Amino acid sequence: MTDTVGEAPASGPGFDGAASRRLLARLRDVMAGSGSGQERLDKIVSLIAVEMGADVCSAYVMRAGEVLELFSTYGLNQTAVHNTRLRVGEGIVGDIAGHARPIALDNAPSHPSFAYRPETGEDPFLSLAGVPILRGGKVRGVLVIQHKDRRRYTEEEVETLQTIAMVVAELVAQGELVNPQEVSSTGDPALLPARLSGTSLAGGLSMGLAVIHRPQLTIRQMVAEDAESELVRLNAAIATMHSAIDDLLAAAALAGLGEPKDILETYRMFAEDRGWLSRIREAIRMGLTAEAAVQQVQNDTRARMSHLTDPYIRERLLDLEDLTNRLLQHLAGRKSEADGGTLPDDIVLVARSMGPAELLDYDQRRLRAVVLEDGSPSSHVCIVARALNIPVVQANDALNRIESLDPVIVDGDHGQVFVRPAEDIQMAFAESVALRTRKEQIYAEIRALPSVTRDGVPISIQLNCGLLIDLPHLKASGAEGIGLYRTEIPFMVRSSYPDVKAQTDLYARILDEAGDKPVVFRTLDVGGDKMLPYIASGEEENPALGWRAIRIGLDHPSLLRQQLRSLLRAAAGRPLSVMFPMIAEVAEFDAAKRLLDLELKRLEQQGVEPPSRLRVGTMIEVPSLLWQLPALLARVDFLSVGSNDLTQYIFASDRGNPRTASRYDPLAPAMLCLLRRLVEACNDAGVPVSICGEMAGRPLDAMALLGIGFRSLSMSPPSVGPVKTMLRSLDVAALRQYMAGLYQKGDHSLRDKLRSFAKDHGVLI
Ligand code: PEP
Ligand code: MG
Repeated sequence: MTDTVGEAPASGPGFDGAASRRLLARLRDVMAGSGSGQERLDKIVSLIAVEMGADVCSAYVMRAGEVLELFSTYGLNQTAVHNTRLRVGEGIVGDIAGHARPIALDNAPSHPSFAYRPETGEDPFLSLAGVPILRGGKVRGVLVIQHKDRRRYTEEEVETLQTIAMVVAELVAQGELVNPQEVSSTGDPALLPARLSGTSLAGGLSMGLAVIHRPQLTIRQMVAEDAESELVRLNAAIATMHSAIDDLLAAAALAGLGEPKDILETYRMFAEDRGWLSRIREAIRMGLTAEAAVQQVQNDTRARMSHLTDPYIRERLLDLEDLTNRLLQHLAGRKSEADGGTLPDDIVLVARSMGPAELLDYDQRRLRAVVLEDGSPSSHVCIVARALNIPVVQANDALNRIESLDPVIVDGDHGQVFVRPAEDIQMAFAESVALRTRKEQIYAEIRALPSVTRDGVPISIQLNCGLLIDLPHLKASGAEGIGLYRTEIPFMVRSSYPDVKAQTDLYARILDEAGDKPVVFRTLDVGGDKMLPYIASGEEENPALGWRAIRIGLDHPSLLRQQLRSLLRAAAGRPLSVMFPMIAEVAEFDAAKRLLDLELKRLEQQGVEPPSRLRVGTMIEVPSLLWQLPALLARVDFLSVGSNDLTQYIFASDRGNPRTASRYDPLAPAMLCLLRRLVEACNDAGVPVSICGEMAGRPLDAMALLGIGFRSLSMSPPSVGPVKTMLRSLDVAALRQYMAGLYQKGDHSLRDKLRSFAKDHGVLI
């Protein structure tokens, strides 16, 4: 936040985005140019003053003992350079450093922190904007502009200064201006604890020491003397890279990583991509060194693909960056930094981005958490991290705020990163971990106990899964089966559509692993935010309401038929449950079922053994289906409520938009009324109904669902313990009676009332 004081009479002359970009381009030139650190700093300071129309621009650099020294100025007396010094906290400059935050003032002399330094000759300057020069969470200096007149600085100007300060921070970090040892000997005075708020990409809570993952190598020689020898070097590097990736694959297989292994296979495919390699070879033939050629091809790819926003393509780009870095490392004959024997025992990896293989380079026994500047929950590295049970948080600016070996707490459940946490935070962390451990022990014990409410009503607990790696949880969790197997996840980590054989093998393995526990396979639910690169959908105005799930399956019947064929073949002689997603009308269910019947007939014609029992159901996600229940219930073997989508469609509220995602509560009277009617209709028709949206895994929400009448809940593996604990302490008859009086309430949500019920009746939520 920028601290501003005083009423500005007028804003300054326009300094727009174009001016800001021009200034940054010139700064880059200065940084890339020749000259000592001091000379480059002088150029930068003049450039800022001229381009921003400021009367003064000054750079203060932190020296030992928490002292900020004027290192360069345009507009103040030059004799003050290296003479004017301010302590942290002294004057406005010291204030900026002390609080590590920008200040913009239209009347600086009236600011309570103003400290007049006559040697600088700064008395005629009324307005001042200053920003801290930060690196690795430490204040390395302060950058200031001043104007004679009173003027209000725009947000854009302050942001530009902050961006420039990042460039200056690089200059300071190069160690030419001040010996780095001098600054590090200051006893970390400006080492501020920091909390980075980000996005949760994988849950969990962990603490460790930061290991900065910097795959980028500097390329010293761009132009080659002999193209042939560069090609030989490239081929050798490719060969060693391939065998290193093969080793990784073997290790992943040994570790039973299942699906992440599939991801790595895709990755290996990339490494052998002829287009990529031939473009590198071509660049070498044009005269570049092998390293420069690899880098150039990467720059081209990035530039060509930068406008593409498709998440899958972006993930593939990250894979390619990872490979580029790997190849550069092999060319340099350098070992990956993950090999370093000096790494701490508890590693919190901090990276701009990372590929799945890079993550697996690190010793998995020592990996505690990952912080990424760029990543999404569906990125491969996150899928692998979840399989390894380590939290991942995406946090902007992480590399600027976290320094190597800083203690870091990563709270993956809440998307928070605590850097150099203060003692109270560390204690709270230790308590949370102890609590989690205690709870885990309780949950482990409870797994073996019957899933029955306090008043004796049996409840079926099922799991939601999407990766082979999830399956071991099935036995350990005590769940009765898999209520939702999201088949699209394995599809999303491949670069082409898996054929019938690959799909059959995968589904057969899932059934093998599940043993005698039933599995409900949901057919491909892609589209919306889960696009596959091999199904062209085009841009959609409203992806959540667009061409997705069964709509794609019915428009591309061969795709759906291949999946159904694979499922039927995989089940051979075993029971099979198939569920269709996003069905909006009975006619769609009929159309999907017809495709299944065709495949059954084909199986029969080919003399292949059919499943011993075939159950067909649909998800309840689109509200229109609720008005066709009699016709639907006459056709299906079971139903499962996808409350994530149902909530978004009932309330017309995008589940993926942070502004609307939590605007409405699934525990609202409207939602609970509708679910109750559905359960009643299913009970009357004798059709089993389950619920597999996220609410089924949250203890209080799950309690409400049992009160409504649900007797089967499907949830992610970590939710089983908490939900089972809740239901074993619940008198469901009492809750049912209590809820009878709630459905017609006009409340926004019944959450508080239900929470009070739980508290009053000793329900453990
Ligand atoms: C749902 O919509 O509730 C559901 C389980 O499906 P998904 O979250 O995969 O869309
Ligand atoms: Mg859904």
